[in-house]
Amino acid sequence: TITNHLPTAELQALDAAHHMHPFTANDELAKKGARVITRASGIYLTDSEGEEILDAMAGLWCVNIGYGRDELADVAARQMRELPYYNSFFMTTHVPAIALANKIAELAPGDLNHVFFAGGGSEANDTNIRMVRTYWANKGKPEKSVIISRKNAYHGSTVGSGSLGGMAPMHAQGGLPIPDIHHISQPNWWAEGGDATPEAFGLACAQELEEAILELGEDRVAAFIAEPVQGAGGVIVAPDTYWPEIQRICDKYEILLIADEVICGFGRTGNWFGSQTVGIQPHIMTIAKGLSSGYAPIGGSIVCDEVAAVIGQDEFNHGYTYSGHPVAAAVALENLRIIEEEDIVGHVQQVAGPYLKEKWEGLMDHPLVGEAKIVGMMASIALTPDKASRAKFASAPGTVGYVCRDRCFGNNLIMRHVGDRMIISPPLILSPADIDEMIRRIRKSLDEAHQDLIDKDLMKAAS
Ligand code: PLP
Repeated sequence: TITNHLPTAELQALDAAHHMHPFTANDELAKKGARVITRASGIYLTDSEGEEILDAMAGLWCVNIGYGRDELADVAARQMRELPYYNSFFMTTHVPAIALANKIAELAPGDLNHVFFAGGGSEANDTNIRMVRTYWANKGKPEKSVIISRKNAYHGSTVGSGSLGGMAPMHAQGGLPIPDIHHISQPNWWAEGGDATPEAFGLACAQELEEAILELGEDRVAAFIAEPVQGAGGVIVAPDTYWPEIQRICDKYEILLIADEVICGFGRTGNWFGSQTVGIQPHIMTIAKGLSSGYAPIGGSIVCDEVAAVIGQDEFNHGYTYSGHPVAAAVALENLRIIEEEDIVGHVQQVAGPYLKEKWEGLMDHPLVGEAKIVGMMASIALTPDKASRAKFASAPGTVGYVCRDRCFGNNLIMRHVGDRMIISPPLILSPADIDEMIRRIRKSLDEAHQDLIDKDLMKAAS
């Protein structure tokens, strides 16, 4: 039998033989073998060699309350014994789904009072595509079917959500995007702002939405979708001018606003939802990840009164076997109880967030760091060979980021690279002492990466 007790090399060989990895450089995997994670507690992972790794990504941006909370395991076991599975198709329901939907409606701002459950964020965004198109069709405007999104956005990996996303390497495989999805620029001032001020650039990016609506036709556009703070695109924080203008344009043209809160939701930005941090009022929110802190797969769409009422006029021919899965719902409810009772959102807003911000912005003194951005507990740095000119590296994008990520890995720190940007999204429970330890590892990794780049003659700016 295959257990934690097998030697690492054997586990890696068995992994390579039969396990296909998501989003992984397969040539690299074949050479090095995957690191085998065997257990986790708090903010630390343990691997099959017994190394303790500080997880500054909270898994995939999801383990908001940290690893190893027995309460969630106990709730899962209890629920599995009582009612392991049932659904809410065809006139049935169950208590975990009722309780979770009510709790989410209580936490969500404004009249976001209705929840359609999914297995994760991708499925929830697929729901959103069908939901907003059905909304307009039910209102007698079926031609309003175009959804506007942003280049380099990530909204999931299914055909629908991958189409909403704006990632070119994903669109290059499998025939994406589906029809009637349109992408405008992302507000990434560091990389794309040119000579404009951040404020002017933010405004210009938002106004691309208005230009797209006018070009496509007001009567054709159903919705705009975006993350309050773009996560997988590189923790891109929009200039302050961006979101008020987006809200104005959505209001003016009656475009539904979908906030993808899969990363930003449940405390990550210092409020329950990222929409509150950037000051927008969406009609629909996509949720997943932090909803259960990753302890069980669950996601959903939180829907405002008006959209729910219009969808409810008729049967919505949509649903997943695991929509509102009782075990996942019970686990999510317990996770929300912990976030609320331990005031984890307050901890981000008043303790960990401000402390991390001070330390994070302090990284600007490092020769490799050109920009340091942070909102709550999600943060990024742009690596550059020349800060003054915001230069990009001459090497292929991602080469330098990879060097840095490798050094982090070597220093038992999980930090991700997006191109030549380094990002973190740690568990929200980090104490100031944990932050000091994380920053210590980051600085060590940056120093080593800097030396690697000098040794390999990679500190050259693109011309
Ligand atoms: N939306 C955003 C903003 C995400 O970051 C992700 C996942 O990283 C998704 C959607 C997709 O969620 P899932 O992987 O649960 O399908």
